[in-house]
Amino acid sequence: MSVEALIDDLVSANHILYEQGVVDGFGHVSARHETNPARFLLARSMAPALVAAEDIMEFDLEANPIDPRGRRTYLERFIHSEIYRTRPDVHAIVHSHSPSLIPFGVTGTPLRPIFHMTGFLGGAAPIFEIREAGGPKTDMLIRTRELGAALARTVGPASFALMRGHGSVAVGRSLKQVVFRAIYAEVNARLQSEAMRLGDITFLNDDEAANASLANDNQLDRPWELWIRGIRSRARRSSPAQ
Ligand code: MN
Repeated sequence: MSVEALIDDLVSANHILYEQGVVDGFGHVSARHETNPARFLLARSMAPALVAAEDIMEFDLEANPIDPRGRRTYLERFIHSEIYRTRPDVHAIVHSHSPSLIPFGVTGTPLRPIFHMTGFLGGAAPIFEIREAGGPKTDMLIRTRELGAALARTVGPASFALMRGHGSVAVGRSLKQVVFRAIYAEVNARLQSEAMRLGDITFLNDDEAANASLANDNQLDRPWELWIRGIRSRARRSSPAQ
């Protein structure tokens, strides 16, 4: 894939995540550079729904912008740089504050795969406690390399992690995979909260989770094409009449 095509997909990922209720005015999605794995692409500081190709910036793995040209950067870009540094297998990352996941980060009730779409959650999603790395007086934001590195340690080899009192992070091998994970993690949280009111839950076991995750990874084009159509038809509806 060319860098231009990757940037196109990254712009689409921003819009899809907004359309699907994962990000709002806040949250971000990045992709590792295609030819230089020590670089990644991330929008300038702005609402994801409004991102266009010219808003995409390039960063090194210390989260320094390569060619800032006066553009403001996301305070929490260290989430991306530190995970890319420790996880060579990761090529795309979503950070969001999607609401249904927040209760699981603050109660310690494990977020576990309730249906086959979320096998990537594995046994249970790890929870990042910022007080362990940053003490009791942070503003909850990952605004330094040290906090980013601590978050990356919590993520470890997982595909998804919760951030106590803040949000979550999804990682993947591609934008298509990470967008899928961010969207379905939020769905899982909604369904799990609902099911907890009804009774004891039978979650996927480890084998079911791993096998379901593999099966979904072979189907990533299908939802992606649907989500792309959604953002394109919305763009047509909102463009001014000639
Ligand atoms: Mn955040």
